Amino acid sequence: MAALSPRLGVLFLGACLVDESQLVRGLAPGVWWRAPILGFLVRGGDALFLFDTGMPRRLVAEPLALDPEGRFGDEIVPVVRPRDAVVARLAEAGLTPADAWVVSEEFGWGNAGLSISLGVTSMPFRFAAMTGNPDLMREVVMPFVEDTEGKYIGCWCATEPNHGSDAILYSGKHSRPDIHFECMARRDGDEWVINGQKSAWVSNGTIATHTLAFLCVEPSMGMAGTGVAVIPLNLPGVSRGKPLNKLGQRALNQGEIFFDNVRIPRHYMLVEPGTFGAATDSILASANAGMSATFCGVARAAFEEALAYAQHRVQGGVPIAQHQLVQKKLFDMFTKLESARALSRLANHRLMSGQPTTHYSIAAKVYCTQAAFEIASDAIQIFGGLGLAKGTLVEMLLRDARASLIEDGANDVLSLAGFRFLVGE
Ligand SMILES: Cc1cc2nc3c(=O)[nH]c(=O)nc-3n(C[C@H](O)[C@H](O)[C@H](O)COP(=O)(O)OP(=O)(O)OC[C@H]3O[C@@H](n4cnc5c(N)ncnc54)[C@H](O)[C@@H]3O)c2cc1C
Repeated sequence: MAALSPRLGVLFLGACLVDESQLVRGLAPGVWWRAPILGFLVRGGDALFLFDTGMPRRLVAEPLALDPEGRFGDEIVPVVRPRDAVVARLAEAGLTPADAWVVSEEFGWGNAGLSISLGVTSMPFRFAAMTGNPDLMREVVMPFVEDTEGKYIGCWCATEPNHGSDAILYSGKHSRPDIHFECMARRDGDEWVINGQKSAWVSNGTIATHTLAFLCVEPSMGMAGTGVAVIPLNLPGVSRGKPLNKLGQRALNQGEIFFDNVRIPRHYMLVEPGTFGAATDSILASANAGMSATFCGVARAAFEEALAYAQHRVQGGVPIAQHQLVQKKLFDMFTKLESARALSRLANHRLMSGQPTTHYSIAAKVYCTQAAFEIASDAIQIFGGLGLAKGTLVEMLLRDARASLIEDGANDVLSLAGFRFLVGE
């Protein structure tokens, strides 16, 4: 493991999430399966470090809620730095695909919003890495890989004010000419010129330095006419909205990004119209599998809180855990949690082993987020009135889980997309 540098891990993270990547087969034979966790930890070691040092979960919870700039609060900054130590320690331990799943669950257990923020941050860089283009590697990928200060933050600009579920249901072979993104990319010599806006839901939107953007290139082709570009967000013509103030996952910065005649070099268009369907399928497969693990963590946090509380809250002269109805509820929560974890592990295993997996990833995302929401709601029931009070962890977990039913695709819409994979449509 020592031979695999943490920096390369970032590249392999992206590579491993898309089966067809040349990077996996070309550069990392034999060790690629270890890479996802390491790549994630290079950027996300801060969060694991927090959990690992036994700091109370609440420290990484709501304090991250938005400050006026939408940046992480002071509470997080001092503990972001020692990530090299974390990477070194985990590398020594030896890592497997199952470990990658465990770490995603741990991030979710700690804080779902922070977990999503860390997860999305590598997106533009790993897609750029997958092209293998030497100019992109030098200009975009390596600065991210070599960044030890967290200077580079990525985001994913897919949805728009008028196109949310459309991005999932009408891409690839299901395109219709009347449904396409409104944020446009037009070729002008050796450059692309970008105009339009992306939705307030873009995670890391107001703090990101780079985005992976879905842009309409050929409107007549509908969503199939979409191109995927990497865009540095310090270019002239880029502006941002305000950080979104929302119900759940408040630790996750979100906000609009506007493009006004923004010019990028020709090679920053990573995917041109025609292959967009394959790109969205692979994103669905990887993002949904990751979401399922994260929200198993949320579900576990809610279950653990409820179990602990029931053992010391006394009513009727005994801890409420001694009442049979409470026992039944807790055991049902446990059953649902372990069912979710089993499905999520299966989906992640299939993803890592390169089997056709998109419908498994979608099934896991839909089931695990729903399970997290129901378990968090049951946890509040076990806490009684206290569970509704601001500052109680289970109250935050319910709000975080609620957001996940819409995040990365509304669950109903994802199920419709999943059915198509099931029947090979
Ligand atoms: C926490 C969070 C993080 C997010 N992060 C990002 C991000 O990083 N980047 C990004 O681009 N976007 C992001 N999103 C946006 C997210 O992908 C969209 O919110 C989601 O796809 C739903 O789109 P919408 O909100 O426009 O709802 P709509 O598409 O307007 O859907 C509204 C309702 O109609 C239903 N519906 C819509 N179409 C159909 C249909 N054809 N058939 C049946 N029912 C339908 C849906 O199920 C839903 O209940 C994020 C959202 C959340 C909540």
